[in-house]
Amino acid sequence: MAGQKRDYYEVLGVAKTATDDEIKSAYRKLAKKYHPDANPNNKKEAEEKFKEISEAYETLSDKQKRTMYDQFGHDGPQGFNGQSGGYYSYGGTGFDGFGGGFGGFDFSDIFSSVFGGGFGGSSRQNNGPKQGQDLQVNIEISFEEAFLGVKKEISITKNETCNTCHGEGTKPGTKAETCSTCHGTGQIKQTVSTILGQMQTVKTCPNCRGEGKIIKEPCPECRGRGKIRKQVKIQVEIPAGINEGQKIVLRGEGEPGSKGGPKGNLYVVVHIKKHSVYTRKGDHVLCDIPITFTQATLGGEIEVPLVDGRKEKYKIPEGTQTGTKFTIRNKGFKSVNGNWNGDFIFTVIVQTPKRLTQEQRNLLVELAKTMNEQPPIKKRGLFG
Ligand SMILES: [Zn+2]
Ligand SMILES: [Zn+2]
Repeated sequence: MAGQKRDYYEVLGVAKTATDDEIKSAYRKLAKKYHPDANPNNKKEAEEKFKEISEAYETLSDKQKRTMYDQFGHDGPQGFNGQSGGYYSYGGTGFDGFGGGFGGFDFSDIFSSVFGGGFGGSSRQNNGPKQGQDLQVNIEISFEEAFLGVKKEISITKNETCNTCHGEGTKPGTKAETCSTCHGTGQIKQTVSTILGQMQTVKTCPNCRGEGKIIKEPCPECRGRGKIRKQVKIQVEIPAGINEGQKIVLRGEGEPGSKGGPKGNLYVVVHIKKHSVYTRKGDHVLCDIPITFTQATLGGEIEVPLVDGRKEKYKIPEGTQTGTKFTIRNKGFKSVNGNWNGDFIFTVIVQTPKRLTQEQRNLLVELAKTMNEQPPIKKRGLFG
């Protein structure tokens, strides 16, 4: 079958003018249909078909390869060899970087390199635009800041696009050369024999490390990296109601992309300091409020300190026991995802007076006499 290869567009059943999406979806459909695992009764044929489809997709899904294919057909500009399995590979050059080791290769490796990313689309195009790396940074804020929301400035060290070469990595006035090993694709294919027959592996080009080009005269500012490490300050707006461990995404504040790819994102992970008075449960604020034993006994208005610093008057009924919980509606945390607020729930702790004046003491003794007896503990379960 060498030399008698079907047209790639024909293989995928798409027009010569097909868009990337059309090619991808045609490939997915066919790859699913002809995957050898999906055709146990017809493995050999499915396998051939599958290889043909994969090969067509490899080329047509890559802009550069597609352009070359459109211009030169299967033979390519440099005279690609037609190979027995219907594959082409670059003739002549010795690829020592990965020559050995195929004797005992792991079959799953072959599968992942042949199929990996193929179904997903563009991730195998390691020569195309790449999104910059995402970054993550931790920030600690106070309980009150989490309650009210706060603007913070964070300082991080990250890569920024080099201004001297605009990310090209080349000395201004010079240009990078197309890698002669991979002809600018950044990838090298090799056909290997597996139990499914001949399969093609794709490797990152060792000569240019997948960049597709070689910088002969690097930019003096960034030494060819195209990026420079810088400390930058970034404003981050933390919304009221944020919870421990929640992340804020700052789109485009990560590392710069390469080859025109978009910037990565910055994730700010928020940590909230413990408060000496308040705790949080969901969107509710909990706290203990001490009251005097006369307030507990007679009832009365107390002032409850809210998290935002305001005070809320609250009427305690007479005969309030220590440990009783009271709820002030909607004075808890604002819900980050909605328009409601949690509650402010406080537990009263009755303070038994420790130091009394003689006069107070006398009054209490008089009081005790009027009560005439001890509290009815004998009826309580514990003693009964
Ligand atoms: Zn530079
Ligand atoms: Zn290369």
